[in-house]
Order: sequence, then C-alpha cells, then structure tokens
Amino acid sequence: MPFDTFVLDHESAIRLGFFLGTFVLLALWEYLAPRRTSRTAKAVRWSNNVALAAANMVMLRVLIPLAGVGLAAFVNERGTGLLNMLPVPYVVAIVVSLLAFDLAVYLVHLAFHNAPVLWRMHRLHHADVDVDVATAVRFHPIQVLLSTLVKFAVITALGTPVLAVLLFETIFHALLLFNHANVRVPPAVDRLLRWFVVTPDMHRIHHSVRPAETNSNYGFALPWWDRLFGTYGAAPAAGHERMTLGIEAFRAPRDLWLDRMLLNPMLDERSSRNGSSDPALTNVDT
Ligand SMILES: [Zn+2]
Repeated sequence: MPFDTFVLDHESAIRLGFFLGTFVLLALWEYLAPRRTSRTAKAVRWSNNVALAAANMVMLRVLIPLAGVGLAAFVNERGTGLLNMLPVPYVVAIVVSLLAFDLAVYLVHLAFHNAPVLWRMHRLHHADVDVDVATAVRFHPIQVLLSTLVKFAVITALGTPVLAVLLFETIFHALLLFNHANVRVPPAVDRLLRWFVVTPDMHRIHHSVRPAETNSNYGFALPWWDRLFGTYGAAPAAGHERMTLGIEAFRAPRDLWLDRMLLNPMLDERSSRNGSSDPALTNVDT
C-alpha cells in the first residue's frame, strides 16, 4: 500500500505529535471551560501522572521494541491473518480492523474490572481523585504491557492493514484524552456526540466511587459496545458536579505520587474508609 512506507518511517513522530497536540488543546479547553472544580492542586497530580506516562513509554520501548505498524507490515508480508485470507476490499479491512481493536479494548477493560488480579493493575487508573486529561495517561505499566500484547494478538489474528493500526493508535489515544478531559460540552452537543464517541460526561460516570456506576461505560472510543452489551449508564446519581471520583481506599495525598502508583497493585484495598472524610480534598466545590 502506498501509505505504508511513509507510515512505517514516521509512525512514532505522527503518533507523538498527534498525542501531544491533542493533550495541549484539551488542557487549554479544561482551563477555559472546566466541567468540575478540581479537588486537588494540579501540580503534584499532573507531574506524577506525566512521569508515569514517560516511564511507560520507556518501558514499552525496552520490552517491546517492535511497533504495532511494524508487526502489521510483517504479518501482511507473510499473507497471514483472517483479512489477508479473505477477498476483503482495503477500506472494509480498515473498518473491520478499527472495530475489532475497539471491541478488544472494551472486552479487556471488562476483564480488568472483573478478574481480581487484573483489577489490582487497573485500579490505579481509577484512583485519581480528579479526572481530567492527565488521568488518561495514568495506567500501570503492567496494564500497558498486557494491553499492547492484546493489540498485537488482534493484529496477528486479523492481519490488519498498517494504516488501520496507525489510525487506531492516533484516533484512539486522542479520544482517550478527550473522554477523560474535564471539559464543559454543551448538553445538546454531548447528547449528539455520544451516539458516535464516548464523551467526557459519559466516561466520567465510570470513574465514580459508586460500584454500580464504576461498572458502566467501559468503552473508550465507540459508545456502541456499552449499549450493545447492556453496560451503558446515562448519568451519575449525584450529578456531574457533585459526584465523587476515585477509589475510597486511595484518596490520601501520598497516593498521588509515582512510587505509590507503581506499588498500588501490591497494596490492600481497604474498605473501611467510606467516604465521609477525604484528606485529598482541598478545594471542594458546591
Ligand atoms: Zn475502568
């Protein structure tokens, strides 16, 4: 394919540029039109979340030096994978690949909530007491590694086009940043948008401390899987401004630091603290 050489040569610059550009734009939007008042000061939380993201990038480079697009090029050259074995037009192969990637992410996210050992890896993402664009990069390295291996399994099984991998990685990460952003989207626009993409008001419900709300809205890009599999939630019971985000057991200011985040899977999730006091809250909104 004509794009493939260009994509293979420039994939990390394209991905990083797109990601950083989206991050900066959303941070600006959060500053100009925030949806909720932040409970914590941003300096510690953002610097530690970004440090975690940088550590994850380095970890992936070291442990899996092969990029997704490189794997796709290799699989396609060998002619293996379902889409290479069937007479599928290129455009259809791209659409099927994008849907398959996003469905896989949805199912893996369900697994991260339902298998106790996987929840230990994922709960760090939920432990953020504010949810904004910096929450979108707050994932434990083991979760990042497992998710990358699942993506590689999809690439190998389907023989996804190189361009589909790049499109997924750039669009998915931009939407991941968007749906975590603490941005005000007019209600009418939100209602329309959430038929096509997961919006911030939709995904924020998944970060609620209430288990029934946490166990809803697992989608990160397309909202259709939640509607199809009955995990869709429309609104938080307490309202978006007043709902409590995070996990009761990990709300202390110390839990915001990188070392505590990396150790989080080993810590006990105590259930005795049940929300009446919140040492991380410094700026409670009304
Ligand atoms: Zn989750």
